[in-house]
Amino acid sequence: MDKAVFLDRDGVINDGSAYYTYSPEQFIFNKDIAVALKLLQENLFKLIIITNQSGIAKGVYTTQDVEKTHNYMKSELQKYGVVISGIYFCPHHPEVSICNCRKPQNGLLLEAIAQT
Ligand SMILES: [Zn+2]
Repeated sequence: MDKAVFLDRDGVINDGSAYYTYSPEQFIFNKDIAVALKLLQENLFKLIIITNQSGIAKGVYTTQDVEKTHNYMKSELQKYGVVISGIYFCPHHPEVSICNCRKPQNGLLLEAIAQT
């Protein structure tokens, strides 16, 4: 059985100082997060990110913005040898659409577990 850690993105990987983070320019890595992720990886944990991105449902930004930001995040982490095994995001918001994937619901966790 594989080991994995499930990490939030905003406030964990990046500093979360912006209400919405949807571009590489806004994506400020938390201090030493790459070192921490590398340590987990060296101890054979797969790294999986689960994040709510309700700005998509609200029309603040697009799925493409999120993917571009995630590509930036992954490429920066790869400079430290860190590989993210999966990124799952909920694009919904209860004011716009009901779903079972917005944390604290477990839809994305179950999806990630099934694919890991
Ligand atoms: Zn959702």
